[in-house]
Amino acid sequence: MSKFWSPVVRELEPYVPGEQPQIDGLIKLNTNESPYPPSPKVIDLITHDAIERLRLYPDPNSKKLKNTIATYYSVKAEQVFVGNGSDEVLALLFMAFFQQGKPLLFPDISYSFYPVYCKLFGIEEKTIPLRADYTIDFADYPTDNGGIIFPNPNAPTAIGKPLAEIEALLQRNTESVVVVDEAYVDFGAETAITLVDKYPNLLVVQTLSKSRSLAGMRVGLAVGHKDLIDALDRVKNSFNSYPLDRIAEAATIVAFEDDVYFKTCRDKIIATREWTISELEKLGFKVLPSQANFVFAEPVGKNAAEVAQHLRDNKILVRYFNKPRINQFLRITIGTDEQMQAMIDALKNI
Ligand SMILES: *Cc1c(COP(=O)(O)O)cnc(C)c1O
Repeated sequence: MSKFWSPVVRELEPYVPGEQPQIDGLIKLNTNESPYPPSPKVIDLITHDAIERLRLYPDPNSKKLKNTIATYYSVKAEQVFVGNGSDEVLALLFMAFFQQGKPLLFPDISYSFYPVYCKLFGIEEKTIPLRADYTIDFADYPTDNGGIIFPNPNAPTAIGKPLAEIEALLQRNTESVVVVDEAYVDFGAETAITLVDKYPNLLVVQTLSKSRSLAGMRVGLAVGHKDLIDALDRVKNSFNSYPLDRIAEAATIVAFEDDVYFKTCRDKIIATREWTISELEKLGFKVLPSQANFVFAEPVGKNAAEVAQHLRDNKILVRYFNKPRINQFLRITIGTDEQMQAMIDALKNI
């Protein structure tokens, strides 16, 4: 704290990302990254030639990439926005749509960046409690609001919502923007991108960080009505005109084009998840139903913080949140079969 800080900075409570420790042989299951490398085609792309071109500014509008995404999702390029990680896309959209003088609604247990952005942008928040079974019930969301945002599947619970329920919410909630944060949608939920032509207040956000193995590249995207994308462009061009660097744009195009590789990795992770859940259940864990690349699991009768520490002593890192309602759970990213076997073995030795 210093007298030079702006008043708003004094009041911030910044987001705390999962650790990225440098420990040899660490099995890292704490930040929902993919255990698999990016597509070999992404690796091929980062040639001498691509590096040479870094002296030039990138395309400020990432036009080629938007075309690729538009083709992939059968929308128009003018309905696509891209940013430097979906966290940046979220920051821009909070500014673009949620400074309304009415509260933004989101689940009480959800992505912890949402309240951080509310503070940063002076947005009033109203959290809606998850039901006792940790599910979202849209019936609890009043229509008098300044916007609604939720992840599908939710994080850290991993529980997804059926598309029909999201559509029912959109039919009811027509006067504010509804954002579906689909960071984990590829692992078992259904994307709401198919609804954007029907609902002009729907914005769908995705990331390349989880299912496409590019967390280190920082690429996120949003798809919605052209008028929503225009607002995002206005904010973006008032903040940083070149959010995506040349390599990120080119790599993301290839990542979408190599759909076979994407599906292979995704299917492997889903299969490993199902195996992990059944092994955890054999060990007495209660595991919430997961449609994501992680599980939210409760070591019944044991102290979750101690279990996390025991795993850490065995060089296995999982995420523990010391927060009301969820401090008895561990959030465990799905790694490779070998990594999950090592984790299960470590849990057997408690
Ligand atoms: C990981 C995650 C993000 C952020 O992804 P980046 O594109 O890496 O910034 C956004 N929302 C949720 C719910 C996430 O879990």
